[in-house]
Amino acid sequence: MKLSSILGKGKPTLSFEVFPPKTADKYDTVQQAVEEIAQLNPAYMSVTYGAGGGTSAFTTSIAANILKNHGVTPLAHLTCVSSTRQMIRDQVTLLKENGIENILALRGDIPQEGGALSDYHYASELIYELKNLGDFCIGAACYPDGHVESKNVAEDILHLKEKVDAGCDFLTTQMFFDNHVLYSFLYKIREAGITVPVVAGIMPVTNASQIKRICALSGTYLPQRFKAIVDRFGDHTAAMQQAGIAYATDQIIDLFANGVNAVHVYSMNKPAVARQIQKNLSEILA
Ligand code: FAD
Repeated sequence: MKLSSILGKGKPTLSFEVFPPKTADKYDTVQQAVEEIAQLNPAYMSVTYGAGGGTSAFTTSIAANILKNHGVTPLAHLTCVSSTRQMIRDQVTLLKENGIENILALRGDIPQEGGALSDYHYASELIYELKNLGDFCIGAACYPDGHVESKNVAEDILHLKEKVDAGCDFLTTQMFFDNHVLYSFLYKIREAGITVPVVAGIMPVTNASQIKRICALSGTYLPQRFKAIVDRFGDHTAAMQQAGIAYATDQIIDLFANGVNAVHVYSMNKPAVARQIQKNLSEILA
């Protein structure tokens, strides 16, 4: 099923993200977590793609398993910055052979150690190419706080429009912790003529030091209310998990209440977190 048939239809949807293992010996552990999350029967599940494309075969096999064994629609991520055109074509063939119809088309982070291949510079080029390689529903990333390489949000939105014009069908946001940042971003992109559905990406924080580092690197705004929770509970794993799930639930309820109907949870291969969030929203999603 294409995600375009469920997104933007006015019904609240909850989806989850998983990531493939870095090495084959961790495959079974990841697969176990993926299956537990798939059993929650989310609207769809996304499977990330290793930065350098090194775990590309795992992305496809996990996505294929989600579809075949659980009947849950997969969204396979695909990055291009470390790929040649031929590598992308091979990956697309593999996705087609496995019946995967939805792709989140990304540039990927430019490797610090070098080694980015020069066939692609931006995600828009990948989106344009994917449109010609098959009948896919294509998503792209967007950044309510602005992408770290952009001068400002306005410049980032100009390039976001290029991705939409290249043929992307929906957008998924980077994590954000203040819903007003998203609402302001949505207003700006609609003004810029971007009308495709936007899926809000929500990260339930369970590891305080990791999130502080990621947010500092990506320039994500941390509201005082969130910082206080992390400062107070960050050293206590179970308490941080409980508070992180409560904060994420609160964000999601506010999003649904304000008409942002599609929410994607960065569940990070943690079935307990995915399960608890879904339980907290059971009546709202019914
Ligand atoms: P682009 O859309 O190409 O944008 C990158 C930068 O270039 C932006 O600053 C943009 O404004 C600028 N830009 C775009 N076009 C132009 C142009 N024509 N001229 C000048 N500047 C331009 N990474 C992974 O490795 N694997 C994953 O699975 C993965 N999943 C992700 C999922 C989501 C929802 C998000 C938000 C991010 C994900 N990432 C993933 C991270 C992503 O790869 C990085 O954020 C990367 O740095 C940018 O990717 P992009 O597709 O947004 O790039």
